[in-house]
Amino acid sequence: MHNDPTVYINITSKDEPTDAPQGCENWIHMVNVPCNTGQDWDKIIARTRTNVIAKISKLLNKDIEPLIVYESILDPRTIESKTQSYQGALYGASSNNKFAAFLRHPNFKRSIDNLYFCGGSVHPCGGIPLCLLSGKIVSELISKSVLK
Ligand SMILES: Cc1cc2nc3c(=O)[nH]c(=O)nc-3n(C[C@H](O)[C@H](O)[C@H](O)COP(=O)(O)OP(=O)(O)OC[C@H]3O[C@@H](n4cnc5c(N)ncnc54)[C@H](O)[C@@H]3O)c2cc1C
Repeated sequence: MHNDPTVYINITSKDEPTDAPQGCENWIHMVNVPCNTGQDWDKIIARTRTNVIAKISKLLNKDIEPLIVYESILDPRTIESKTQSYQGALYGASSNNKFAAFLRHPNFKRSIDNLYFCGGSVHPCGGIPLCLLSGKIVSELISKSVLK
């Protein structure tokens, strides 16, 4: 893990005050990590937490650590156990080169008739909009195969 990771922050209670207790905010932070291949996640989490708090405190010119009342952490181990995604990967196979988009797992299996796949780990990709598109592609494939 890099010591200065890109950090995505979303504070939904800014729009929906009931997302946090009165007088508080819910800060959701996200940092990209690889899938779970047995890394020492507790060590990675401790280091990342320190780096993220230091980064935000520096950006805001305020020590945010004493303001934390409650925190909960999702890592690839917990994502895997809660959702059964393989190795806790949100977006399926790692896509780090320019051909990766063309090599994603397809929505069907040639060797097994009538077996289809949709969701974040297959074509076209992860994220809610593309997962919905994935479902649409599969529904169209099924309609076509039923009408054959
Ligand atoms: C912290 C976080 C933040 C994110 N933020 C965004 C965002 O801002 N915008 C965005 O577009 N995307 C975001 N994503 C990504 C998006 O949530 C995923 O790409 C998407 O939810 C994947 O959809 P899915 O249907 O493939 O899988 P999931 O949403 O994981 O759904 C799979 C479901 O199947 C259930 N399941 C698994 N195994 C079984 C079984 N054997 N029997 C019955 N049920 C089972 C699981 O419990 C789960 O409910 C985020 C993901 C995370 C983790």
